[in-house]
Amino acid sequence: MTTKKGQIGVTTGNIFPIIKKFLYSDHEIFLREIVSNAVDATQKLKTLSEVGEFKGDMGDLTVKVSIDKKAGTLTVSDRGIGMTAEEVDKYINQIALSSANDFLDQYKDNANAIIGHFGLGFYSTFMVAKKVEIVTKSHKGGDAVKWSCEGDPEYVMSVADKDDRGTDIILYIDEENQEFLEQSKIESLLNKYCKFLPIPVAFGKKQEWQAGKEGESGKYVETDEDNVINEVNPLWKQRPSELKDEDYISFYRKLYPMTMDEPLFWIHLNVDYPFNLTGILYFPKVNNNMELQRNKIQLYSNQVFVTDSVEGIVPEFLTLLHGVIDSPDIPLNVSRSYLQSDGNVKKISSHITKKVADKLEEIFKNDRAQLEEKWDSLKVFVEYGMLTENRFYDRAVKFSLVKNTDNKYFTLDEYKTLIESNQKDKDDTLVYLYSTDKQEQYSFIETAKEKGYDVLIMDGQLDTHWIGQLEQKLEKTKFVRVDSNTIEQLIEKEENTDVELSDTEKENLTESIQSLLPKIEKTEFNVTFKNLGESTKPIQITQDEFMRRMKEMSAMQPGMAFYGEMPNMMQAIVNMEHPIIKSFFEEVKNKSKDESINSAASNNKLKQLIDLSLLSNGLLKGEALSNFIKRSTDML
Ligand code: ADP
Repeated sequence: MTTKKGQIGVTTGNIFPIIKKFLYSDHEIFLREIVSNAVDATQKLKTLSEVGEFKGDMGDLTVKVSIDKKAGTLTVSDRGIGMTAEEVDKYINQIALSSANDFLDQYKDNANAIIGHFGLGFYSTFMVAKKVEIVTKSHKGGDAVKWSCEGDPEYVMSVADKDDRGTDIILYIDEENQEFLEQSKIESLLNKYCKFLPIPVAFGKKQEWQAGKEGESGKYVETDEDNVINEVNPLWKQRPSELKDEDYISFYRKLYPMTMDEPLFWIHLNVDYPFNLTGILYFPKVNNNMELQRNKIQLYSNQVFVTDSVEGIVPEFLTLLHGVIDSPDIPLNVSRSYLQSDGNVKKISSHITKKVADKLEEIFKNDRAQLEEKWDSLKVFVEYGMLTENRFYDRAVKFSLVKNTDNKYFTLDEYKTLIESNQKDKDDTLVYLYSTDKQEQYSFIETAKEKGYDVLIMDGQLDTHWIGQLEQKLEKTKFVRVDSNTIEQLIEKEENTDVELSDTEKENLTESIQSLLPKIEKTEFNVTFKNLGESTKPIQITQDEFMRRMKEMSAMQPGMAFYGEMPNMMQAIVNMEHPIIKSFFEEVKNKSKDESINSAASNNKLKQLIDLSLLSNGLLKGEALSNFIKRSTDML
């Protein structure tokens, strides 16, 4: 072959400026592209050898990455199939850009998409190199070829001096990208993109500590052994039946060296129909109130790292899981928006949802004790899934658990059966009582239990939302927080507890009680009067269920800020049948409003009762609290 000059078959001359300009943010991916090309070429050779088409000795197949700072080059060498001159012409020169013109316009702000669409992998090297050389020799024999190009549409091809089969890609790193000649930079990139490639990739040689001779200090010296940076047979590619728990846990440690906790459990994905998918998903242990960590799942395509920002690619609730997903059907180096709209990616995503549901159901059926033991950590995932994926809801509603204040777990069906006979109100609605804090709501929980009611614990991050969902999905069902009303009114039965008062009586009483309630910022008290029997508490302070929930939700959703601004609506429910209230009422019955307020101000028993009920809601603070203590001692 004589030296040949020509024009690269890019129908538009501006591909190089585009590569350089628009790919800036992602320019590190060039390394992934050329290393995975080298790996592909090596795997092809292995395949040819397996089917008997390549009969030579394969020898060491390690792909080698090296930097030469003096020469300013970064080189990736493989001993794969190599290319003949014709193949270089076909695969490198006539790059699949003949139909690119239209797309270039369309994607000019999104060069990543161009690259993905037109197999520009190799050309991404021009993001960082002023000159690129290919020196390659085909496994079929013939002359070795040297191709060279300086980042314009012109290339030079000539016969090269290369004895060994395979390909060297030599990048002459340009001025702006000198960082890619740094050992540590390349090492970290190889670690990010190439850690699990199926062919050994070596970066330099292993170092060994050599103790210094008399008086000298020791130092690291290079050994003969390749510094292989990857694991060619990562755990997710292995057969689940051959793996032990320890293997999964130690792989988890490898993926997340900074995470201390062990995962709750894992799902080994292994699908070959209708698409190819492998991977391992871990349910991480979530510590209460800890910020949930998104974007821990790593997406691979044939063991090549694609991305770890999977939002919009996998269902939202799965972004809370950890682990790896690998599918050749996940397109490499395309833009996020392209990934998100890709049909395969969507199918994969709904398939994973199904697998997660399968796994949880399996644990539920075969090892309920384990599910109960892990439920408190697990439920945030399940609830998130139920809230965001209808199909997941339909599956999970069967194995979702609820826990009551005695730490017993029930499925929703079991729980319904438990409370059905006792917790229906006069409209036949089943009322689920719950507490968000066992300590703070202790007295309310006790009162409810005395009445024979059961109380659930709902203290998870998503419980308020989940409760809202269950109320919509389950028929004639209502959730009521145990401190949101008097015990009689939590589950309203037929009894009539209304009190007959004239307008003036009502106004006087209301004002008197109001005058004893503390002024708390953003908190309003609504005073009501009920006949609740002599033995029921004289005054109870409760918080309106609806408003409280709205405020809680608004804290999590920006669109609902309106509710966040609303005051806390508290109710002071006064039991007119209680002896102390009764006698106060007799005392002020015929008095004016001001006189009533004065009487209240000098009625220590009444003050004490109000303070006690405030105290049980944590609303008695500061001066009011110290007055209460003083009054208590005085009264004793
Ligand atoms: P893609 O890898 O997506 O096909 P590239 O632009 O990265 O696109 O590479 C184009 C083609 O060049 C490859 O399909 C392959 O045929 C050939 N090629 C690239 N690198 C090598 C290599 N190291 N050894 C052999 N062939 C290679």
